[in-house]
Order: sequence, then C-alpha cells, then structure tokens
Amino acid sequence: MKFGGTSVGTAQAMQQAISIVAREEGRGTPLVVLSACSGITNKLVQIAGAAGRSALDEAMTLAGEVRGFHLNLLDELIKGAELKAELATTIEALANRLEMLIKGVDIVGELTERSKDMFCSFGELLSTTVFAAAMKELGHNVAWVDVRTVMITDENFGFARPLDEICTANVSKIITPLLAAGTTVVTQGYIGATKDGRTTTLGRGGSDYSAALLGAWLDDTSIQIWTDVDGVMTCDPRLVPEARSIRVMTFSEAAELAYLGAKVLHPDTIAPAVQKNIPVYVLNSLHPDAKGTIITNDPERLSGMSYEGLVKSIAVKKNQCIINVRSNRMMGRHGFMNELFDLFARYGVSVEMISTSEVSVSLTVDDKSFNDELIQDLKTLGEVEIEHNVATISVVGDNLRMSRGVAGRIFSALKNVNLRMISQGASEINVGVVVEEPEVATAVNNLHREFFSAPQDHAIFEKPAGK
Ligand code: ADP
Ligand code: ASP
Ligand code: MG
Repeated sequence: MKFGGTSVGTAQAMQQAISIVAREEGRGTPLVVLSACSGITNKLVQIAGAAGRSALDEAMTLAGEVRGFHLNLLDELIKGAELKAELATTIEALANRLEMLIKGVDIVGELTERSKDMFCSFGELLSTTVFAAAMKELGHNVAWVDVRTVMITDENFGFARPLDEICTANVSKIITPLLAAGTTVVTQGYIGATKDGRTTTLGRGGSDYSAALLGAWLDDTSIQIWTDVDGVMTCDPRLVPEARSIRVMTFSEAAELAYLGAKVLHPDTIAPAVQKNIPVYVLNSLHPDAKGTIITNDPERLSGMSYEGLVKSIAVKKNQCIINVRSNRMMGRHGFMNELFDLFARYGVSVEMISTSEVSVSLTVDDKSFNDELIQDLKTLGEVEIEHNVATISVVGDNLRMSRGVAGRIFSALKNVNLRMISQGASEINVGVVVEEPEVATAVNNLHREFFSAPQDHAIFEKPAGK
C-alpha cells in the first residue's frame, strides 16, 4: 500500500491513511510505503540548492520549517507524553542531520547529485517516522524499516535503479519475516542506498515505483497506490474538470499514459507489476470506498468491462521544447539519423517525440534537459530551430490500434489550435500532438469533449466520488 504526499500531508490525512491500513489489516498484513508529506521534497530540493550556492541563512530557515512542520504533525497526532518525547527526539535528530548536511555543502561550496539525494531522503524518513509512531500509539503491531537496508541500487544518483537480486534477498531477509509474524511494515518510497550505503533516490515521484518493486519482490497479491484522485482518470482533473475515473485499464495503457505525462503514476510503476502479473489498484485516500482503477491484464476482469470506446485517456506533458534540424544532407543519404541521435545520446538527453520529413527532423525534449553545447553540435548537421514553451498531448487507448477515423476526430477537435508537431506510429496505442503551452487547456478540453462527452454507460468510466 503506497500513500502519496497529500495522503500523508496533514495529521488528518495521516489518520485517514492509518484507517485505510487498518481495514487492510483485517485481510492480511500490509507493507506500507510512504512518500514525504506534500511539499516537503520540493522544500528539500530548495534547501539543497540554497546550500549549494552558499545561501546559508535561506537553507537554514527552510530546514527550520521542515523541522517545525514535523514537530507540529507529531504534536497533533500523538497523545502519549512518553511516545511524544521519544518521537520528538528522533525528529530533532533527523533535522539536526539535515542542518549538518547544509553546513557541509556550504563549506565544500559544491552540491553534487550525491548530496542532493541525501537532502531529498529526509522527507520520506520523517513522514514514515511519524506515521509508524501514530500507528503504534493506536495499538497496531507495526515496524518501521529503513528501506535503505532493502532497496540497494546502482550509483546513478538522482535516478538510481535497484539491483534486483540483492533486493529480492533483502526483502526475504528483512521484510518477509515481519509480515509473516503479522507485523505491518512501514517504510519509505523514493529512496534507496548503494551497496556501500550511500543514499540514492529513484527520481521525483518515485514512491509509486518503490511500492511496485517491493510488491513484486514480495510476490504480493496486489499493489495499491493511494492518492488524491479517484484512480486514473480520462485526463488530469486539474486541466479538465469533467474528467472521469477509469475503472479498468491494461498494463500497456497505464504504462503508456504514465510515460506520456499522467502524473498519477510514476512511469516505471507498471513494469514490476507486469513481470509478476500483479494487479495495480489506483485509489483515493480521500474517498476510500470509491472504486478507483484496476490495472491488469486479467482477461476475465477486462472482459467483464467490455469497452467499445476508442480513447481511454488523454495525457499532457508540459515544459517541453521542439528542436527542429533541417538539412539537405538528409536527402537520399544514410547515416544522418545515426549522427543526429548519437549527439543526443552523447549529451544524455532523452528524445520524446519524433517526426521527420525528407529534409527535416523535429523532436521534443524536456526543456531543462539540454544545453547550448548540444545545440552547437547539432548545428554542424544543419539549420537548427528551437521552440520553447510547448506541451505534448497524447490520446491513449489499446483500441486506437485497429480503429479508423481517430486522426480525423482528433484534428477536427483541434481545428482552432496551432499544432506544432504530430506523431503516430504504426502499432502505437497513442496519437501525439505538440501545442504551445497557452493552448493546452483549450486543446485538452476540446479533445475530452470529442471523445468522452457522449453519455457514458460503459461500466469502465465513473464520475469521481463526491461530484
Ligand atoms: P501522489 O502524491 O499521491 O503521488 P501525484 O500528485 O503524484 O500524487 O499524482 C496525482 C495527481 O496526478 C492528481 O492530483 C492529478 O492532478 C494528476 N493527474 C495527471 N493525470 C492524471 C490522470 N490521467 N488521472 C488522474 N490524475 C492525474
Ligand atoms: N517525495 C518524492 C517526490 O516528491 C517521491 C514521491 O512522492 O513519490 O518526488
Ligand atoms: Mg506521485
């Protein structure tokens, strides 16, 4: 059971999450994976940045806020004086370490990826400490586990990936015996450690991925992602207020959607679940009785929800940039693409969407992922144009593959929008377009109306609870 930032962001939210865990304890012994309380990881990133540029006062003030926030949380949640004092000592110790780290980075005058991960780890360490104590006070049989003894990763700080065999062995040694003894385990998402014990992170939003990995290593029966919306929806409800909850979707649809920008799931969450064929449930901690979304390949579950609609969901990825390379050298020559992509590989820049003609290649990359040196090198291949402030919008659904007329419907829905790029592969389950950022809201709302405004009696879509 993974609870995201908002699901553990206040004393009330933590109490609610604990009651959801308690329900599950009636059915088995859960492993609980937590994010940092909402906003805390962002604050830690800010602290790291401030320490790195020797803005010591700013860093220490923000660290004081992190300390104060968790001491307040503890004050609201824990009643017993003894436990309160014990927990306050733990929080103080963590906050002191954070301040030591700030001073260390300030003295060295350099913020490395390695120390940045160390900064970011405090959020999950603090949230789980408070949560486990609150569960203990309520009489749960609970153990707090430092996931860095289990989640052993490579040394790719900021984007670490687990060393599967070691982790599986660690899970059997550390977590399985606790669960077998009926002890609920509370641990951190997002963080891990290298073999020699240096703290790493799996990348922003990585707690979903941690939960899926742990679920797979445990060979568990379900992976539950508890968040602040009623499951995976037809679009981000912050962009499209009429977005509906999707009852069931396939692993490939969910993975595609996550990679294409739907923040509700970290893009890597689905792979471990697919490997062990474990259903992933995306559920709302604010409405625990709402059905949420089941992500599965189980034909029985999928057939029970027969679905003729074309599109399952619309994903948006903002902060993208189009790079257009135009060169006559492309005409009838081989090797050009190789040279082009070799440059992106050399600079470690991930290319997202591509569209080509005989004389030009357009591609999108994350706006923050490249530098001037890459552009200078690209200019040796041809004329380079760059367009910032664009977003990719992708229409996703397994049924797109064998359907006619989808592109026509997409383009007619977007007839008033300036499309900067278009992409669809032969066997893809998505069609993607790139628009200027100010047009995102119009574009997604038009698309949503086109594909989801018909009265939906399909069992797979639902209005979110409370609406
Ligand atoms: P958590 O802290 O629980 O991990 P996130 O903020 O990472 O939560 O993800 C949940 C958010 O994802 C929602 O509040 C919603 O705004 C956004 N989101 C984007 N696309 C979708 C979608 N297709 N379905 C549901 N939520 C989406
Ligand atoms: N706390 C981390 C973040 O904000 C990981 C997560 O919440 O999934 O990115
Ligand atoms: Mg998240």
